[in-house]
Amino acid sequence: MPAPRLRADIASLPAYKAGQRPAERTDIVTYKISSNENPYPPLPRVKAAIADAASSIHRYPDPFNRRLVSALARKFDVSEDRIALGTGSVSLVGQVIMSAASAGDQVIYAWRSFESYPIWTQMAGAVSVKVPLLPDERHDLDAMAAAVNERTRVIFICSPNNPTGQAVTAAELDAFLERVPSDLVVVLDEAYAEFIGDEDIHDGVSVATRHDNVVVLRTFSKAYGLAGLRVGFAIAHPDVAEALRKTALPFGVSSIAEEAALVSLEAEDELFERVHALVNERRRVAGALQEQGWELHPSYANFVWMRLGDRATDFAAACEEQGITVRAFPGEGVRVTVAETEANDRFLEVAHAFRMALR
Ligand SMILES: *Cc1c(COP(=O)(O)O)cnc(C)c1O
Repeated sequence: MPAPRLRADIASLPAYKAGQRPAERTDIVTYKISSNENPYPPLPRVKAAIADAASSIHRYPDPFNRRLVSALARKFDVSEDRIALGTGSVSLVGQVIMSAASAGDQVIYAWRSFESYPIWTQMAGAVSVKVPLLPDERHDLDAMAAAVNERTRVIFICSPNNPTGQAVTAAELDAFLERVPSDLVVVLDEAYAEFIGDEDIHDGVSVATRHDNVVVLRTFSKAYGLAGLRVGFAIAHPDVAEALRKTALPFGVSSIAEEAALVSLEAEDELFERVHALVNERRRVAGALQEQGWELHPSYANFVWMRLGDRATDFAAACEEQGITVRAFPGEGVRVTVAETEANDRFLEVAHAFRMALR
């Protein structure tokens, strides 16, 4: 019997490679530092809100998640019609592409960057235009602007960039936006914005309110520690936000996710202390790696990137052996999430031993 007939290009769709889980070990505590998750468990009041919300899950959630939309509008001082929620900002990446690009259109993004971009682009039947990062891991915004043509429908700027950690500055972003058509959708994917810890970097929300074509994507998954609940949001021109609502999975953001997000916004002071601690840990880890002799470029996210080339796979295997699961990009590098101090320390020991063995 022939296999059921699917779209011909589905077979070539790259599968999303989630960060691996550590193998079961009884000899040591293992750490999964491969998915840029927040190492801190939910705050007690977030857990309580989740438990409370559970008593109403026989009902669909509010399809418009009005309470969360309104809380976000207040927080960012924008009108509610500029906010669209999604089941993680990963979903919003797809919704933006579906809203702006059709078959044969082009989507520009830096490479290497977030691996959802090629997947969603291909799912929309559009064509990826990957612009290589600069040698210092930053976006080559000149080349990206030069790549724009009449088929271009969306440009993604991932800042801080996953997996390299570099960020685009406000001045670079302004210059870039001057160069590209003012009706071309430019997505600023700021999944790690809260980890920047530096004044010099863009504030995407103010950019989006000054430029109608800019869409900012944020998420509760990383800094707010709600990765398992799937809730992210976009701030965009009202017409774009409306398109994002139309292309969303109906009732996608659950009442549980909405309540947890609302309480997390209220608990921001406490959550951002954790973020601050992680930023300090990132500085410590990056500094220690440099002292060990590794060459690193700055990271503004909750991970560090080591461009190891052919050694990436071996390095990841060495980490795995010590119960540390990192994310390897074979032939390119490894991305290592900054986590609890014990995990970071163990990782640094492995990196040190690996370095010594290279001598
Ligand atoms: C983690 C991440 C996201 C969002 O993840 P969600 O859990 O779907 O909100 C978006 N963009 C980048 C670059 C990321 O790394």
